[in-house]
Amino acid sequence: MDFVEQLKSSVDIVKVVGEYVKLRRAGAGPRYSGLCPFHTEKTPSFSVHQTHQFYKCFGCGVGGDVLNFVMEIERLSFYEALKLLAERNGIPMPKRADYSDEETKQRAAIQRMHEIAEEAFRQNLNGPGGREARDYLARRGVAPAVAEEFGLGLAERSGQDLTRRLEREGFSSDQLESSGLVLKRQEGTGFFDRFRGRLMFPIHGESGKIIGFGGRALKAEDEPKYLNSPETPIYRKSYVLYNLHRAKETIRKADRTILVEGYMDVIGVWAAGVREVVASCGTALGSPQVKTLKRHSDNVVVNFDPDTAGANAAERSIGVLLEEGMRVRVLELEGGLDPDEYVKSEGAEKYREKSDKAPGYFYWLADRAGAKFDMRTSEGRVRALQFLLPAVHRVADKLERAAIAGDLAAHLGIEQGMVLDHFRRAAAERRDQPMKAPQEPLRPLEKMLLNTLLVSREVRGEIVPKLKGRPEVEQFRMRRIFQAVFSLHESRPDFQFSELEARMEERDKALLASVIFADDLQGENNPLDLAHACLRKLEEDARQSRKSELRTRVKDAERSGDMAEAMRLTEELSGM
Ligand SMILES: [Zn+2]
Repeated sequence: MDFVEQLKSSVDIVKVVGEYVKLRRAGAGPRYSGLCPFHTEKTPSFSVHQTHQFYKCFGCGVGGDVLNFVMEIERLSFYEALKLLAERNGIPMPKRADYSDEETKQRAAIQRMHEIAEEAFRQNLNGPGGREARDYLARRGVAPAVAEEFGLGLAERSGQDLTRRLEREGFSSDQLESSGLVLKRQEGTGFFDRFRGRLMFPIHGESGKIIGFGGRALKAEDEPKYLNSPETPIYRKSYVLYNLHRAKETIRKADRTILVEGYMDVIGVWAAGVREVVASCGTALGSPQVKTLKRHSDNVVVNFDPDTAGANAAERSIGVLLEEGMRVRVLELEGGLDPDEYVKSEGAEKYREKSDKAPGYFYWLADRAGAKFDMRTSEGRVRALQFLLPAVHRVADKLERAAIAGDLAAHLGIEQGMVLDHFRRAAAERRDQPMKAPQEPLRPLEKMLLNTLLVSREVRGEIVPKLKGRPEVEQFRMRRIFQAVFSLHESRPDFQFSELEARMEERDKALLASVIFADDLQGENNPLDLAHACLRKLEEDARQSRKSELRTRVKDAERSGDMAEAMRLTEELSGM
C-alpha cells in the first residue's frame, strides 16, 4: 500500500470534514449532510458518505475524497494536504518528497520562515530588550501566560535581526522576498525587517499554522499603528479570521461567534473565558471570511468599538454578514467601552449575559438611522427607510424579510403599506434561483445493484461474474459505471470508491454520487442477499420480456399463415 492509500485508510472523512462543517447524520446509514462550505446555501446539499469516504455537493457539484476536501478547504496543494492530514493524525510522512512541486516547496519555505520569525519575536519579548513591550502588555492587563498562549512577540527595532536569522538558515532571496517578512532595500542590495519595534501577533490559518503577523506600534510616533503581513503564497487575508483555529470548537458548541475588531479585543475576551471570539485581521470583513464563519455557526454577535470608525465598520460588516445568510445581532457596551475594556471592568459573566441578550441588527441600524435623520419630518423618515432597506433586502429568507419590514415600519413610524410595497417590488427582482431539473428516473434495481457492489470486495467476488456477461447490463442507464466497476474489480479488487469516481466522466460522476447518496436504499438487508435478489429479479425481468417478445412473434406468425412457426414458438413459450 502506498503512503497516500495508507493515510486515507487511517483517517475518517466524516471526522475530517466535521472539523470544518457541521454535519448531521442522515438516517441510520453511513450518510451525513450539512451546509456546503464551498457555496452559499440555506438548506444542506452537501453530503459525506462514510463507507465510501467520499463527499459531494449537489448544489455546486464539488466532490472527492478526503484529500480533495482538505486541498479545497485549506487551499493547499496535494502534497500539503497530505502532510497536514498526516501530521494531524500522527502518521510519519515518508522522507522521499515525491509529491512536492516548486510552488509547494516555496510555500513550505515561507511557512518555515514564519515559524522561525515567531520564535525570534517571542525570544525578543522575553529578553532584555522586551521590557517596554512587556510593560505595555502589563498595562493592558495581558498576563504573561496569555501572551504565551497567543504567541505574542516583539520585532526588534534595528531592522536586521530577523533578516539575519533567515539568511543564516539559508533561504534564497526569492524566498525571502515572497515571505512578506522582510523588505528589499531601495538602494544597494539586501533586505531588512518589515516589522521593527512592534508588538507582534501571530496570525494562524484554520488548521493552526502561522501564516502571517499583525504588528502593533509601541511608540506613539510610529506609523501606522497596526502593520500587517502583506498577501503571500500562504496568507490570503480575505479568508482569514484571527483566532478562529482556537475559537472554532466553542463556536460550534455555543452556536455563535462573537466578532470583534482587534487582536487585543480577541485576547481580552478570550482570556476572560469567553472563547467563541474572532476578529477580522486588519481588513474590512469580506464574504470569504463570512463563509468560513458560517461553516461553524449561522449566528454572529457583532461587537465593535463604540467610536464612529467602529460603528461604520459594524455597518459595513453587517451588510456582508447578511448577504451570506448569517443571523446577526449587535452588541453595544455601555460606557463607551470596547470589548477588552469591558470584560476587564465588568467581568466575563456580565459580558456573556450582554452577548446573549444582544438585539437583532435591525434595531441597531434603526437607531443609527434615527440618529442620522430627522424622524419628526416625513422626509427624514423616508430617508431613514432608504438607509435601512438595503440591509433588509440582504436577508435571504422571505418570511424573515417580511417580518422585519413590519418591525421596520412600526419602529420608524412609517405607514406599513409603503414599506410592504417596496418589498414586493424588490421581491419580484430577486427570485430565488431555480432548482436544477430533476434527473430522469433510474430503475431501483440498477441503483440497488450498484450500491451492493460497492459495499465490499466479497459481494463483488460473488456477483460480478454472474452479472458481467448479461445483456441487460448494456441497457442500464449506469452501464458505463457498471463496466468501470467490473474492470476495476479485475485489476484492483480492493479499489476505493474515489478510484471508481475518478474514472468516470462528469455526467456519470453526478449519477454515481446521486446513487450512493440516495436515501431510499438504506436497509437492514444483508448486501449479498440483496444483490442475489436483484440478480433474480433481473433474470425474471429478462424472462418476462423474452416471453412477451415470443407472444408477439406467435401472433405475427399466425397472421402471416405460418402455422408451423407459430406452433414451434408456442411450444418454446410454454417451456419457459
Ligand atoms: Zn456546494
